Amino acid sequence: ASRIVLASRPKGKPTAENFRTETILLPAPGPGEILVKALYLSVDPYMRGRMSEAKSYVPPYEIGGVVGGGAVAEVVESGDDSFQPGDVVSGQFGWQTHALVPAKHLRKIDPSLAPMTASLGLLGVTGLTAYFGLIDICSPQPNETVVVSGAAGAVGMTVGQIAKILGCRVVGIAGSDEKVQYLTDKLGFDEAINYKTTDNLTKALKHVCPQGIDIYFDNVGGEISDAVFRSLNTGARISVCGQIALYNLEQPDVGPRLLTQVLIHRALVKGFIISDYAARFPEGVKQLAKWYHDGQLKFEETIAEGFDQTVDAFLDLFSGANLGKQIVRV
Ligand code: NDP
Repeated sequence: ASRIVLASRPKGKPTAENFRTETILLPAPGPGEILVKALYLSVDPYMRGRMSEAKSYVPPYEIGGVVGGGAVAEVVESGDDSFQPGDVVSGQFGWQTHALVPAKHLRKIDPSLAPMTASLGLLGVTGLTAYFGLIDICSPQPNETVVVSGAAGAVGMTVGQIAKILGCRVVGIAGSDEKVQYLTDKLGFDEAINYKTTDNLTKALKHVCPQGIDIYFDNVGGEISDAVFRSLNTGARISVCGQIALYNLEQPDVGPRLLTQVLIHRALVKGFIISDYAARFPEGVKQLAKWYHDGQLKFEETIAEGFDQTVDAFLDLFSGANLGKQIVRV
């Protein structure tokens, strides 16, 4: 079996040198253990946080330890009656081609319900993050203006589509013309802005949000958020989901301080971690699956081919090479 371990903690932007691939021999599964063969691996921005030593909501990866994360796998050999060889499962065993996993850490997937990769995206953490981060924190109402940053990413495109389903006017911010076009042409976003080619994002947002911004779903932070804050409406709700623009900074970012806007407009700013909603996951998955089957909610993925592409696929998240959920086919 091959596995990718953290060789050193990244300083600033991670590079391939921060990782090392190792080959190991796995024993046969003992009682209660399952030997799985990975089919798809998830690479996610939050993993950057775990590569640092700093205290966060999940413990840091250990140096020399496997890079942990979500995966879809097939059971090869089972030491537990509830799993049979051939079963497709999801688990959190990370960047490995094969793994020995306690049965209680695996969940069976029914590939007849949706493509099996959906458990890493729309019907997994991605979809749930979009669903609860938007609905629970922002309480979207019909005709409200919703702005989403990181809009062509996995979470962002799901947020925008849910907001459309709920009758909102949706504006996405993303990093290329192709992404902007995809959001408006394929997903029905009302407007989308390429932040990389717009010289004045504040002005561009004011132009496409003439009624101001009622809801901001923030995946990126930094200057993009500064621009959004300048158009908040009274009673605005801001869901702080991610801050990818800041994850690789070695020194904290000092930007315009716009909490006066929050004060004047009595805005609500709330951060959340999706595991906070664990008790409500079944409700979220049920609704997401229903919208998906009704054809109202699409999901898009970018698939890197081969286990040896895992690190590059992860690094690509920071240059925005992905449209939708980035995964790796092992
Ligand atoms: P994405 O699929 O959105 O991938 C990351 C995207 O971020 C890239 O495609 C890129 O798109 C954009 N990006 C990268 N660097 C920058 C930058 N400096 N400024 C602006 N945009 C940038 O990833 P996910 O959907 O998995 O995650 C989205 C966000 O949600 C992340 O911040 C993540 O940490 C967070 N998250 C939070 C969770 C929670 O529980 N709170 C759970 C899951 C995710 P572009 O081309 O547009 O630049």
